[in-house]
Amino acid sequence: LEEVEELNTAVSQERETTRFNGGSLSIKGLRLSYGALEVLRGIDLEVPKGTVTCVIGPSGSGKSTLLRSLNRLVESNAGVMKLDGEDIRLMKPEKLRARIGMVFQHFNLFPDHTARENIMLALTKIKGIGRDEARRIADARLAEVGLQGRGDHRPSNLSGGQQQRVAIARALAMEPEVVLFDEVTSALDPELVKGVLNLMADLGRRGMTMVVVTHEMGFARHVADRIVFMDEGQVVEAGPPEQLFTAPRTERLKKFFAEVL
Ligand code: ADP
Ligand code: MG
Repeated sequence: LEEVEELNTAVSQERETTRFNGGSLSIKGLRLSYGALEVLRGIDLEVPKGTVTCVIGPSGSGKSTLLRSLNRLVESNAGVMKLDGEDIRLMKPEKLRARIGMVFQHFNLFPDHTARENIMLALTKIKGIGRDEARRIADARLAEVGLQGRGDHRPSNLSGGQQQRVAIARALAMEPEVVLFDEVTSALDPELVKGVLNLMADLGRRGMTMVVVTHEMGFARHVADRIVFMDEGQVVEAGPPEQLFTAPRTERLKKFFAEVL
């Protein structure tokens, strides 16, 4: 309940309503192997500026690996990835990660730092912003995700939903052009899922370019501009949600929906 009340307050009073200036992603022929195991087997994907793409598919199909290769947490073996036309593999990883933010299933917050410090660290270390300015930005971003007044809390004193919103605020603080979300609600208690999904839907409406790996089929259907269904390291089907949900073309997608819907 507290979570819901907080979110409502955030929406009515503090929410930033400026539009984001998202960037575009373009992926062609992306391949990646772990040893002998080929996990990405020629992925093509276009993500236009300011759109939300949901990536769905069975466990082990390569969804996390696709996101991780986009911000170079793993290095791909072949193919071309571009951010606003620039070759991602020629960028410095730290610069790239300021431009493409990522939010993980298990939040990845520093447990010994407060919510505010978690956000400030990224700003001071990666962007070289001074502490006073970093503090101002951190508090503004916390307010934006409905956590005004929670800056002094350590992660262990926040609910899972609040921790995930800190992680989202941290990603937004870097002013990224794209944000990647990897099953960010999978570890949350059921009653906390909706608040995080609503926040993500709001970011999408404000023009953030987002790639969202999710098992939340309601979110995928109603928020995504485009859905990508992956299986065994390949994009099997892609298109607008209504097309995939109402008229899946492949047996593999039909089988997947039969299991998850
Ligand atoms: P998904 O996110 O769709 O569940 P992943 O991208 O996590 O799939 O994994 C795809 C495949 O790659 C799986 O078979 C997984 O076991 C394997 N894999 C993932 N990470 C590694 C790794 N670091 N080393 C070896 N194999 C990995
Ligand atoms: Mg995964």
